[in-house]
Amino acid sequence: MHAEMLVLQFSREVVDQPIIYRLVKDFSLEFNLLKAAINPRQEGLIVMELRGHPKDFRRGLKYLRESGVKVKKVAGEVRRNEDLCYQCGTCTAVCPSGALHIERPDMAVVFDAARCSACELCCPVCPARAMEVKLNRSAL
Ligand code: SF4
Ligand code: SF4
Repeated sequence: MHAEMLVLQFSREVVDQPIIYRLVKDFSLEFNLLKAAINPRQEGLIVMELRGHPKDFRRGLKYLRESGVKVKKVAGEVRRNEDLCYQCGTCTAVCPSGALHIERPDMAVVFDAARCSACELCCPVCPARAMEVKLNRSAL
């Protein structure tokens, strides 16, 4: 069994096609969905763990690419630079795993590295550029 965490970006041309359904049906792959933001006739984004037999996994990724889905493997590590973070909370709105969250009652923005899937969604939205990627990522 092979498993990887992936970020899938769907263009508006393919966003309404049953691509994930075919991944399961035609390639015998299983997935664990962490985040899905799909709107008809707009771009979509899915963060998920995909797993299956290595041969099926490779065939499934080939199918995704040929279908026009942009696939990014998230094998890196994301950290927060505590010196840069000023606790604005913007990142908590995009974090699919809850690794970045607000703790009550003091409303502190907490980063729990153990829950981070390294999807990198928090990196571009952070105005302070406090979320940093350790460079061992490879695009598929
Ligand atoms: S968006 Fe950046 S600065 Fe704001 S709380 Fe998150 S990590 Fe800190
Ligand atoms: S990379 Fe950022 S958005 Fe993704 S799970 Fe980790 S903390 Fe959350």
